[in-house]
Amino acid sequence: MSARVVITGAAGFIGSHLAETLLDRGYSVVGIDNLVTGDVANIAHLANRDFLFIEHDVTNYIYLDGPVDIVLHWASPASPIDYLEIPIPTLKVGALGTHKALGLAKAKDAKFVLASTSEVYGDPLEHPQKESYWGNVNPIGPRGVYDEAKRFAEAMTTAYHRYHGVDAKIVRIFNTYGPRMRIRDGRAVPNFIAQALRGEDLTVYGDGSQTRSFCFISDLVNGVLRLIDSDTNEPVNIGNPQEMTIGQIANEILALTDSRSRIVYRDLPVDDPRVRQPDISRARALLDWEPRVTLADGLSQTIEYFRQKLVDAST
Ligand code: UDP
Repeated sequence: MSARVVITGAAGFIGSHLAETLLDRGYSVVGIDNLVTGDVANIAHLANRDFLFIEHDVTNYIYLDGPVDIVLHWASPASPIDYLEIPIPTLKVGALGTHKALGLAKAKDAKFVLASTSEVYGDPLEHPQKESYWGNVNPIGPRGVYDEAKRFAEAMTTAYHRYHGVDAKIVRIFNTYGPRMRIRDGRAVPNFIAQALRGEDLTVYGDGSQTRSFCFISDLVNGVLRLIDSDTNEPVNIGNPQEMTIGQIANEILALTDSRSRIVYRDLPVDDPRVRQPDISRARALLDWEPRVTLADGLSQTIEYFRQKLVDAST
């Protein structure tokens, strides 16, 4: 019988790509999502495969019959505009949802992977960020609901590993982009692509000198699959170390879309990290992983997806 994986947040951007890749590799997949930020359109094409979808809010008890080999806990809002609109569900899924997902892994004697985030480093005082850095997070700022929930989730995951012996792993995901991000996601890459394709102004927050490092979805998924197969229980950064300013990525998107949109400047959100770049030495050493997809290639694939989405939306 094929190994059975449960993915919380399976209808989301990363969750749906994980589901698809695991199905391609012969796993049986159970996807759970309450569709708050997820979308069934992301998983509709998996309907005739070894895929079971359950609409459920994982902050409540997860009851599932039969064996489970791996639990991937991906359910969470992940865009700064979501944290502002739904702060309490964001806190609950990171805290209570992680507890429930770990409980399922413990009951089924399954491996567990927590989708953590570079946000645990906050507005970092160490650059680039290594896993050993404890971070600089404002607990009561607008991003605190996400950052602190994920920090709690890491503590809970580590406790389940230490005290219950669950084979629990933590991936700290840095900025990731690709097809299936929402058009109204609010994050930089989908905003800029949608704006460029519609001929609207690109909204750069602040003066655009803040930096991020963008990883394409297929690279991220490969990193997570290697982490599942590894024997480490230490947190591992997965991201692309190619750092750039937000102004640079806006210009890159303008060039690749052949857009005549202009760049306009808007207020920088509160607590917006000044810099972010993963140190991926641990992923290189333990997982023999590094990103392969170039920014131009990844952005082109993402632009194609958004072009099609916008055509579908207008017909
Ligand atoms: N950003 C921007 N314009 C937008 C959306 C985001 O300039 O329309 C900036 C944002 O202020 C941040 C960076 O782009 O400095 C990345 O933001 P995103 O929301 O993608 O994710 P974050 O890395 O902040 O979680």
